[in-house]
Order: sequence, then structure tokens, then C-alpha cells
Amino acid sequence: MTPQEHIQQLTEELNQHNYRYYVLAQPSISDFEFDQKLKELEALEHAHPEFKLPDSPTERVGGAITKEFANFTHVRPMLSLNNSYSRDEITEFDQQVMKLAGGKPYTYILEHKFDGVSLSLHYEQGQLVRAVTRGDGVAGDDITANAKTIPTVPLKLMGTGYPDQLEVRGEVVMPLVAFAELNQQREQEGLPLLANPRNTTAGTLKMQDSKAVAQREMTFYGYQLFTDDPITQTDEENFQLLASWGFKQSGADRTCQKLEDIFEYLSEWEEKRHDLPYEIDGIVIKVNELELRPEIGNTSKAPRWAIAYKYKAEDAVTKLESVSFQVGRTGKVTPVANLSPVLLAGTTVKRASIHNADEIGRLGLHEGDTVRVEKGGEIIPKITGVVLDSRNPEAKPIKFLTHCPDCGTELVREEGDANHYCPNTTSCPPQVKGRIIHFASRKAMDIDGLGTEIVNQLVDERLVSNYADLYDLTFEQLVSLERFAELSAQNLLAGIEASKEKPFAKVLFGLGIRFVGETVAKKLARHYGSITALGAASQEDLEQVPDIGGRIAERVVEFFEISDNRELLERLQQSGLRLEQEEKSTGSNALSGKSFVISGVFSSHSREEMKQMIETLGGEIKSSLSKKTHFLLAGENAGPSKLNKAQNLGITVISEEEFLHLINGMD
Ligand code: AMP
Ligand code: ZN
Repeated sequence: MTPQEHIQQLTEELNQHNYRYYVLAQPSISDFEFDQKLKELEALEHAHPEFKLPDSPTERVGGAITKEFANFTHVRPMLSLNNSYSRDEITEFDQQVMKLAGGKPYTYILEHKFDGVSLSLHYEQGQLVRAVTRGDGVAGDDITANAKTIPTVPLKLMGTGYPDQLEVRGEVVMPLVAFAELNQQREQEGLPLLANPRNTTAGTLKMQDSKAVAQREMTFYGYQLFTDDPITQTDEENFQLLASWGFKQSGADRTCQKLEDIFEYLSEWEEKRHDLPYEIDGIVIKVNELELRPEIGNTSKAPRWAIAYKYKAEDAVTKLESVSFQVGRTGKVTPVANLSPVLLAGTTVKRASIHNADEIGRLGLHEGDTVRVEKGGEIIPKITGVVLDSRNPEAKPIKFLTHCPDCGTELVREEGDANHYCPNTTSCPPQVKGRIIHFASRKAMDIDGLGTEIVNQLVDERLVSNYADLYDLTFEQLVSLERFAELSAQNLLAGIEASKEKPFAKVLFGLGIRFVGETVAKKLARHYGSITALGAASQEDLEQVPDIGGRIAERVVEFFEISDNRELLERLQQSGLRLEQEEKSTGSNALSGKSFVISGVFSSHSREEMKQMIETLGGEIKSSLSKKTHFLLAGENAGPSKLNKAQNLGITVISEEEFLHLINGMD
């Protein structure tokens, strides 16, 4: 086989595997094999760039930076859809269709109305040549480089029978799980949380760095086909064609004739939509016969042959009883709305989040207002508006506090930060309690028997006011407390004692330095090796550590500048906590310098055990993949986005078996 033939063969084969994985969810080779083949292809393409194909799977990693997206005028305007909210409106729609169809027979095709971002893909000779956003409907942005990173956007159509030129429209959505993971990660990193999957998708598609886009998991569902000359008679056939060319579909489309069938479908999905991996905000009902569509026609804004049935936004109207202010572990003050209990999406809601002072201002909240609450993708509902007609004219606007509700200290708000903070970190009760709770939590010191209630009790009884105090607690002190039996006192002391064995990285995470999450703590522990070395590091030093940015560095330096903190560390040291990276007494350093990302579940060990094995052997665990990651340890149900990213970045994917094999051969 010539290199050219080899490149061609690998490209086809890998694209096929990609399709089996992402579209069909039926992979037929192991990740490891895939990875090997991808590497082989990469090497060949590197040696013979002239033979690299436009649909090479190595294209999906992104890399292109777009300063400004080119404007592209749509071949056919991307219209909007008329909305309806009731069955009566659907009945009216059907009557109008009947009239406009002029007596010709017709059927309907029912589809999910994906709550995402629409995208128009252009193919020439089966190759993806362009991807354009909807824009204003007449012209949109050419975001081809970004669209290519989405694994379910075919770079080349599969099968045969496609005309030279065609356009496929569909929706890009972010799976709910991917959205939740993204926010979790952002929370750990101290970044503001994203509002919902749709806006996140829209924002992601417009990012300038296509590599960053490739890191976000998104799915494209194709639902509309345009060709210059008709090649099918119904939309149903189009769906089949699209599927045969490699497009992913919801699988929920149904054709029907009668209104009753439409209504049944609407009810069916009203329930089932909550179990979908993505959000839908309704159902689209379209005339199935393509020939009839131009006869029925469009208005300037929307087709007359289609209508969207929108599910009721899950919202409710209720009274704002009061706003309370909660102080968190970091001193951040969050306003919370207390509401008259109201039924919303099947649960009784009594509270809603209001993010910060700006949000109070934006909503223009007044005391006793009647407010509209909505349940979006988030768990806690939020206030979306005020019913002004119901406002008492005497009502006063809600003001943000000027002083901490718990300790009375004047709040501060830093330039450019939307949040207020109580600066009294040392003695503001919720901050004191929050820090100890965090210190004792499972991922930090994991102190058995020291949950929120006990911490509150210990602080309220003035037995402890910081985490160092925990190590001075005595049996006598504990048994003298209310509801504290001898056994629970002993258990707590044993738990505190055992925590002294926790590795340095856990202690460091437990200190609760802002932006120093689990992963950052591990990196810092590994890099500096001891609290003394870390405490001596300057801002510039810290910023040299891979993945440590300016904001983290600033907080670390700030932490060590506070003399109270240095005193606490001194006491922790005296109590015998590990403030140094322990030398590996057992095992080897066989994995030293190797970084791993773990995904999925394992059959022989828990994830935590796998992590520990790697770390004992000197390897490093990372939460997300980057070019520098060495291995993706993929168990069962490993995240497809991770696998794809690993493949794209050329990271070796190893299975549980391969991993165990690897380390057993090591010692
Ligand atoms: P609207 O944004 O309310 O005007 O609704 C029109 C939008 O619905 C289109 O631009 C598409 O992005 C979106 N949409 C979602 N699912 C479908 C579907 N199955 N068929 C057509 N449009 C859809
Ligand atoms: Zn306070």
C-alpha cells in the first residue's frame, strides 16, 4: 500500500469508527485500537502532508483562530417558526393548512424542537465546505472551523446518492450532562457559572479559538435537507437520507395524519422530555409532503406549513415574602428570595436564587412584589420578572445590605466583581463554620463524624473557631456537650486523629484558599513539596507553575501574608499534620511525570482506588485533558467527549485491563 492509499484507508476507517461511536453509540473497536490508528494516521499525514484528506479525523482538534467571522448570505433565508401554546391553535393551524393545500392530501411530521442553536451546513461533492449560523435569518457567520470540531457534524457524507450541492440544517445542542460538568469545573476554578445549555452553545460556537470549541461537548442533530432539484417527496424520506449520510437524529420523529395523533405525541413528550439527554422546548409540526410546502407558502417571518408547539415554560407567579442574605465560606454574600410556597414543575418552591446586587437592580425588586419564578436547567428556580400591576405603590425597593448580617462588618465589593463580601474572615460565624466544614469534608481531610451540625455546635459552644482548634479538642470537652455520648466523642476524636495521616495535597485543599480546588492543590503540593516552600513563593514564581494563573497566584500569596493564617499553619504542624509531600516509602515512582485523566467506571476497583494507585506510583491525576496529558484511563461508559478529545490530542487511551497490566509489569 502506498502512503497515499494508507492515509485514505485510515481516514475512512477512523471516520467510520467515529460514526459508530458518536452517532450509533455502537463502537466496534477499543479506544486503544482507535488511538493507535489515529496516531498512525497522524504520523503519515505529518510525513506526507500533500495526501492529507479534507475529512481527516485529525481535523477535529481545531486549531484555527478566527478573528472575525466572515458574513455569509444564506442561499435560502433561515426563517423562524410560528409558535403555539394550545391545542386550539394547533387545530386552527390544521384548518388553515387544509385550506391552503387546496384539497390535496397531506400528512404531518412531528419532531423535537431542540432548544439549541441552529446551524446550516453546506456540502459540495459530499464534503463539508461551510457552516453558517442563522444570524438575522438573511445572513449569518461562517463558523466552519468551529463546526468541524463537533463529532456529529459529518466532514464527508457517508454512503451515496447525494447531489453535488446540498444544505443540511439542524441544531447544535449541549448535552445536559456536559453542561453540568462544565459548570462544576467552572465552580471549582472560581469562574462565574453559565446560565443554560442553549446560551452556552451559542457562546461556544462563536469562540475565536477552535481548539477551545473542541473541548466542549456538543451534538448536532440534522433535521432539514435542501437540494437544488427535488430528490425526495417527503420529509420522512429526507430524514432517512440524512441518517444514511451519517447525521445523528433524535429518533423521535413521527409522521401522522390526524390531529388526535398530534395531540398524543405532544402529551407523550411533555412527560418524556425530562428524560432526554438534551433540552427541548416544544414540538415542531411540519407538513410532510415537500411539494405542498411552496404551495402553502411562507409569511415574511415563518413558513405557513409548520408550527411550533411550545411546552409551557415551567413558571409560576407568587409573592416575594422577603429577601435574606447568606454568607458563605468565602464571605460571599448571596441574596435569596423567600417566596410564598408555590407549585412549580411538580415541586413546591419556597425560595429562589437572586445572584447578586446587580440582579436585584435589573429586576427592580420591591418589598412584597409579585414575582414570576421559572425553573430552567438549574435546580434552584430563579426570579425572572416582576408583575408590576400588582405592586403596592408604597413599596420600597429592596436594597442590598451594607453590613454583614452575621457579624455586622461593612461589606466590600471589589472593582469589577458583581459580588459583595464580608471581609471579616477570622471571626464571621458562617465563614468560620464554612471553613471548618470544608476542611473536614470528604475530599479534604475526610474527618468522620464531623458534619455540618457538629461543626455548628462546636463553634457555637466556642470550643473551636478555626481548623487548628480541632486538634486541641479533648474527650472531656466533647462529652460535656449536649447530645454528645461517650461513643460519639471517641469516634470524633479518632476521626480527627486519623486525619493527621492525610497527604499534604489534601491538607492544602482543606485550607480553603480561594480558587485552590482539589486539582490546583495537588499541583501546588507536587510542585513545591512543602508548605514552607509554597509560603515562600512569590506571585511570579507561582505563575510559572503550569496551569496556575494570576488569580490563583494572587490568592495564595494573600493567604500567606495574613499572620493569623501563618499562625494556624504553625499549629497544624505542631499537631502533626502532613505539611510536606511524603517520600514514597512503598511502591516505585514508575509513573512519575506521567499524567492521567480518568473517565468512566471500572470493574475491579473504584475510581478513587484507581486514582490512588496512580498517585502512589508517582503519577498525576488531572481533571481535564490537555496536550500535556499522557494517558486517558477509560473505564466503562467513559465520556465520549473525553475520548474524542483524547483521540484528537493524540493522547493514549488505556482500558482498565491495559492499565492493570501496565502497572503489574512495573515494580
Ligand atoms: P424560533 O427561534 O422560536 O423562531 O424557532 C425557530 C427555531 O427553532 C429554528 O431557527 C431552529 O433553530 C429551532 N428548531 C429546533 N428544532 C427544530 C426542528 N425540528 N425543526 C425546525 N426548527 C427547529
Ligand atoms: Zn460577616
